[in-house]
Amino acid sequence: MTQIDALPPLREVIATHQLSARKSLGQNFLLDLNLTAKIARCVGDLTGADILEIGPGPGGLTRGLLAEGARRVLAIEKDARCIPALQEIAAAYPGQLDVVNADALEFDPTGQLQSPIHIAANLPYNVGTELLVRWLTPPQWPPFWHSLTLMFQREVAQRITAQPGSKAYGRLAVLAAWRSDAQIVMNLPPEAFTPPPKVSSAVVHLRALPAPRFEADAKTLERVVAMAFNQRRKMLRAALKGLAPDIEEHLRGAGIDPTARAETLPLEAFCALARSVKASA
Ligand code: SAM
Repeated sequence: MTQIDALPPLREVIATHQLSARKSLGQNFLLDLNLTAKIARCVGDLTGADILEIGPGPGGLTRGLLAEGARRVLAIEKDARCIPALQEIAAAYPGQLDVVNADALEFDPTGQLQSPIHIAANLPYNVGTELLVRWLTPPQWPPFWHSLTLMFQREVAQRITAQPGSKAYGRLAVLAAWRSDAQIVMNLPPEAFTPPPKVSSAVVHLRALPAPRFEADAKTLERVVAMAFNQRRKMLRAALKGLAPDIEEHLRGAGIDPTARAETLPLEAFCALARSVKASA
């Protein structure tokens, strides 16, 4: 393994700072710096870009991002034990890395970064999906970020990039396709991580579109797809009963057969339904 910088190997960093992996924080670390540099390259051209990294842990991906030429990295880590290890990286890249000890679900990084901004993260999947939905559903578009490069369990990655009619198609696929181009750019086996998780992982790259593919209010669309897929085996007129008293009319008005099921509906139909519901609210 070649080193990508003059810092100690990650195994040594973990031993020095006693960073035993905690399951409660979803800690499965990437220790191969060649691999983290490869993931960093999935972000795109890093030179002249600010990166928001969520969950840097001992800093493998952070080092990849900096070694690949990121202008600046703002790293948000919940586990206070990792902060001294990350400060050592900051010292090796003066003025380029800022580390914040915070819960990414509570911390607002906007205002601390300059455009173009890319987001990179290897997070526990529940935190990752919650942040993904937030990043995809602000009221205004385009958002503060240009792209998201996110590690997920492979199954979640497939759900984000799924097409209508497939088993994986659901809320994440609709929201991702609405405002971004999303694709799986790398697959990783469990052994890539320390400790290895039970499942395989994949990196998803999402590029923000300049405008949503179809007009819709973000909160309404989010509610419509959440309800529609919450009971995905039910006909839409039943699954969406609580959405509006005259839901069958809304469905027909949006050109949707009320007896259809959510998994067959294309993005355009969900957006038409969200517009109809919003207009009558
Ligand atoms: N990026 C590192 C790597 O690739 O080796 C660590 C990845 S590990 C899967 C997930 C990291 O996210 C851990 O360092 C964990 O402490 C951190 N984390 C978990 N929940 C978080 C949250 N809500 N906010 C910020 N960081 C979080």
